[in-house]
Amino acid sequence: MRTVTVVGASLAGLYAARALRAQGFDGRLVIIGDEPHAPYDRPPLSKDFLTGSADEAALALTDDEERADLSAEWILGVRARGLDARGRTVLLDDGRTVTTDGLVIATGASARGLPADGLAGVHTLRTLDDARRLRQDLTRGPSRVVVIGGGFIGAETASSCAALGHRVTVVEAAPLPLVPQLGREMAAVCAGLHRRGGVDLVTGTGVTALRGTAAVTGVELADGRTLPADVVIVGIGVIPNTAWLAGSTLALHDGVLCDDGCVTALAQVVAVGDVARVGGVRAEHWTSATEQPRVAVANLLAGRTVETSRPVPYFWSDQYGARLQFAGRRREGDRVRVVEGDVAEGVTEDGFLALYERDGRTTAALSVNRPRPFMRARRELARETTQTTHTTETRETTAAS
Ligand code: FAD
Ligand code: NAP
Repeated sequence: MRTVTVVGASLAGLYAARALRAQGFDGRLVIIGDEPHAPYDRPPLSKDFLTGSADEAALALTDDEERADLSAEWILGVRARGLDARGRTVLLDDGRTVTTDGLVIATGASARGLPADGLAGVHTLRTLDDARRLRQDLTRGPSRVVVIGGGFIGAETASSCAALGHRVTVVEAAPLPLVPQLGREMAAVCAGLHRRGGVDLVTGTGVTALRGTAAVTGVELADGRTLPADVVIVGIGVIPNTAWLAGSTLALHDGVLCDDGCVTALAQVVAVGDVARVGGVRAEHWTSATEQPRVAVANLLAGRTVETSRPVPYFWSDQYGARLQFAGRRREGDRVRVVEGDVAEGVTEDGFLALYERDGRTTAALSVNRPRPFMRARRELARETTQTTHTTETRETTAAS
């Protein structure tokens, strides 16, 4: 391969570029990103960057020295708008085209919004520019903040706004936030963190309208109430950035469809990070975006799937001074056992470790403020997954022979 192009100059894109050079690719490397910034880290945007305890320099994922080592052509501030049917030509918004032998799709996802008709004070949070705007609104003195959505963005921004001294209400359409991620029992325990942090949590009601003429003044709820608001943060999930691939031959369905090795229907096109649906699963977490590129690049350079990626899913979240960590594949109906700490009174400073179990096996682990036992549980889950995969493969090989 003489040229490899990476589209998406952020976390997964940078890790793909690193993997290409680490795995011996010494050809032309082109990295295209629609944001004007060099790769930066998103997790602090809802946490330390929002509260002001981290500045922009702390977000940088790379530096001049590494960029020189990567020896890549960076095309930043320009959007890729199309890919030809064979996956060999990337069309750019400024009219240029990039012809390539291999392609890494790392275009991530965008925040879903609500129709707000350009009302001032209404924010989504995905990019550094979003975070700059939100931070500016939050430094204008005490505000009434309404956060729509009780997922990760919702919980983390609510926690940061409360730390800044604002009056915060979180509105979640479902009866409880974070049920898909944690299951009902643990979601109920973690929802208590909002109350402990002095934040009101309104659940089981959607938002019907945002009120205001030039600037937002309130949030109208489906149950008839209107919550007064100076700042509104919309955290209602993301949409994978696949629109630019619409004219290509790639299969798109809530992400770019890939096999277990991040390879698409075209052998010389791989996808990684939030945009990639790998073996039927689209992960929206930092760790997957950093783990998939190594495997994807190995397959890209081999010209076929020689390696698969099935790491134990992992994410963390910082809220109200607590660190949540979750690893594994939880399913509806798994039994939850608190093995360290106590949740009878909700989450305490001491935290807890809970294991999810099915048929006598541990399927997942959740901890709050218990990093060491959690890491042990995570390692154990990884060991069990490797053993299970190995046993299944052995069985399949035996059956086939
Ligand atoms: P992105 O980071 O979305 O990067 C994709 C890049 O591609 C972007 O720069 C985008 O602008 C660009 N792009 C899109 N379309 C095009 C195009 N057509 N042409 C060129 N460029 C394009 N995860 C955790 O596990 N823990 C956390 O605590 C955590 N906190 C988070 C906090 C916030 C505020 C946010 C927004 C996310 C957080 N995440 C967290 C999730 C994590 O940051 C993402 O999973 C990760 O950023 C995914 O990386 P990515 O490179 O796949 O996608
Ligand atoms: P999310 O985690 O998918 O949560 C969105 C929440 O909003 C869900 O609980 C959803 O409920 C709810 N919702 C949807 N529509 C609503 C409406 N109209 N009114 C009220 N509630 C509504 O997405 P997110 O919190 O926006 O986060 C965006 C992305 O950033 C995700 O990829 C997330 O993984 C990532 N992120 C991760 C972290 C972390 O891992 N620590 C931190 C920040 C961001 P339903 O589920 O019932 O639809």
